Amino acid sequence: MAAQRVQLIPSPEEIMKILTKTGAFREGHFVYPNGKHTAHYFQMPLAFRYYDTARVLAVALSRKFRVDRDIASQLPKVSIISPSSGGIPVAFGVRDALSAQQIYWAEQEGGKRMFRQYVNQGDINPCIIVDDIIRSGAAIEETVDLVRSLGAPIIGCGAIVRFTSAPDKIDGVPIKSLVEFDERFYDSADACEDCKAGSPEEHVRF
Ligand SMILES: [Zn+2]
Repeated sequence: MAAQRVQLIPSPEEIMKILTKTGAFREGHFVYPNGKHTAHYFQMPLAFRYYDTARVLAVALSRKFRVDRDIASQLPKVSIISPSSGGIPVAFGVRDALSAQQIYWAEQEGGKRMFRQYVNQGDINPCIIVDDIIRSGAAIEETVDLVRSLGAPIIGCGAIVRFTSAPDKIDGVPIKSLVEFDERFYDSADACEDCKAGSPEEHVRF
């Protein structure tokens, strides 16, 4: 029975509990650099600073890939790709759980997302792109272009949290996530309920 329970994917409510407890999910009155206001903020690396929590989250996401026959049949010759530094611990955790062979991550260089030089040398495996959070989907979309430039097929895509306003599919591949979060953004202070209520605002970075 215990072994069976270990195999389950935690519910979105359980994942949100972990994110809240670690401070990765915050409620309040937040203003993004683009001027949008919102009542919630995710700072995902706060959940990944605890090794045990990081492991639970990454293993849970890996199970969503493991149950996909097309993906499972290609293991271990698969690359796990992160679009940014925030996705690196997710990529390492998912790789570990799936015993996939390779990990790559993209970085911002001069305002452009790119892989490290010479990363296109050697065997290029089919790719699974993973991130900690998908807010707009822009980072994933840029990473899809990078992976295409390597000549590798994309067989999976996922994140711990996906905003429901982001795409649910990329390059024909469904995006898997542990939490689908229906985030509400106010375009300006005039439209913001928390501003109207006079609650103090916190400025946050992406
Ligand atoms: Zn506001």
